Amino acid sequence: MFDVLVVGGGPVGACLGALLARAAAGARGLSVAVLEPRPPAPLPADAALEARVVALSRASEHLLRSAGAWQGITGPRLSAYERMRIWHESVAPDSEAVLVFDAADVGEPNLGYLVENRLLQGALLEAFTQAGGRLERAPLGSLEITDECVKVHTPAGELAARLLVGADGAQSAVREHTGLTVETCGYRQTAIVATVATARHHQETAWQRFMRDGTLAFLPLADGTSSIVWSADDDLAAGLLGATASGFAQQLDRASDLALGGTRLVSERASFPLRRLAAQRYVAQRVALVGDAAHVVHPLAGQGVNLGLMDAAALAQLVLAAAAEGEDPGALSVLRAYERWRKSEVAVMSAAIDAFDRLLAHGSGPVARVAQRGLSWVNRSQELRRFFIRRALGMSGELPGAARSGCSSDPHFEPLSADSCACT
Ligand SMILES: Cc1cc2nc3c(=O)[nH]c(=O)nc-3n(C[C@H](O)[C@H](O)[C@H](O)COP(=O)(O)OP(=O)(O)OC[C@H]3O[C@@H](n4cnc5c(N)ncnc54)[C@H](O)[C@@H]3O)c2cc1C
Repeated sequence: MFDVLVVGGGPVGACLGALLARAAAGARGLSVAVLEPRPPAPLPADAALEARVVALSRASEHLLRSAGAWQGITGPRLSAYERMRIWHESVAPDSEAVLVFDAADVGEPNLGYLVENRLLQGALLEAFTQAGGRLERAPLGSLEITDECVKVHTPAGELAARLLVGADGAQSAVREHTGLTVETCGYRQTAIVATVATARHHQETAWQRFMRDGTLAFLPLADGTSSIVWSADDDLAAGLLGATASGFAQQLDRASDLALGGTRLVSERASFPLRRLAAQRYVAQRVALVGDAAHVVHPLAGQGVNLGLMDAAALAQLVLAAAAEGEDPGALSVLRAYERWRKSEVAVMSAAIDAFDRLLAHGSGPVARVAQRGLSWVNRSQELRRFFIRRALGMSGELPGAARSGCSSDPHFEPLSADSCACT
């Protein structure tokens, strides 16, 4: 029987597995397995950068170092971004009213990193197996919860664990089997993701324009191209997906107001229907949900995976602390502490993201106009800008030990357990 079985080896499940397995490689002896039917094939070093990237906060960077995955990510494919320029369509992209966040304002070298999803997931799974974790390449079939353990049936056989973690994404089968309910609503938007070449260099800057029919972001990549995330109202998105490459680029030039000059598509377009999802409970007897299985937020703030990674770190910390005391890692008291910690943090972030979408992207009327003008007010106050930069870096709120700054200021510091990362 395993101590912990994680269903889903996406970035969040793989991170949880790596944190626990690295601690298990020390004195604790926790046994950990990850069930993942589709682990990504390694990316050839000379492969073109993939369009599907995520923005990682500073807190996530610290955590990935703690999980032993940073060395698998860092290198020529990783892009640091130093600035963000955010504006509403009612003003020009070079106007004084554009809100500018600059890492230099808070004495940081950058605001975060952009990394391909596949590279992130692969590096975390590699860290997990390197630390002695067992990777089962199979999907969850069904599960059975008893007082002592959770039994899981897969096409490859039966597994049992004292704690089962659902890290199997927005359509979580674990959530479904456990009867954990969700509140969900569609944004009536589709995110279109693609890589584009631009006439002007992105200057290591993330550019984001709020419009009445959606939000458009240009995320700067290391090879000079940009990954776009265009969250467009469904009707508009259908037209954009059906357009020719040059027709799409023309519409992109209009939507970006040529902030980076003319654009050219250099990848396929991928699309993701957008919805908000919040599990009403994150835990049940011997079961916990993490990442998109527990909550899905709008991609406009680039926070989904960052929130999920903090879930993984919080749960790992509590499970390791329980194991150190000789407690059952699947005890409901441990799981409830995890739920209290993370559910409130996620709710605050999710509400803030929705407010941005409602007021800046879609809003009309007096409140929305005040919010839109608010961007230039924030821009005029160094204190307010610093406040928002610290939030974007993910260094506020109740951070798990493995994500705190002191833990990774030393590049060689890679703690094996939650205790060894008790620095503040
Ligand atoms: C367009 C777009 C842009 C985004 N940009 C950002 C960004 O910049 N920054 C950011 O932080 N977030 C971003 N996000 C959100 C981010 O992609 C997700 O929050 C993140 O992928 C969630 O990770 P996860 O590991 O929880 O789930 P997933 O990535 O969905 O992984 C789930 C894993 O579970 C496995 N699985 C599924 N079913 C089963 C089963 N039955 N049995 C076993 N395994 C199973 C799957 O194979 C998969 O590997 C973006 C999202 C979108 C749509």
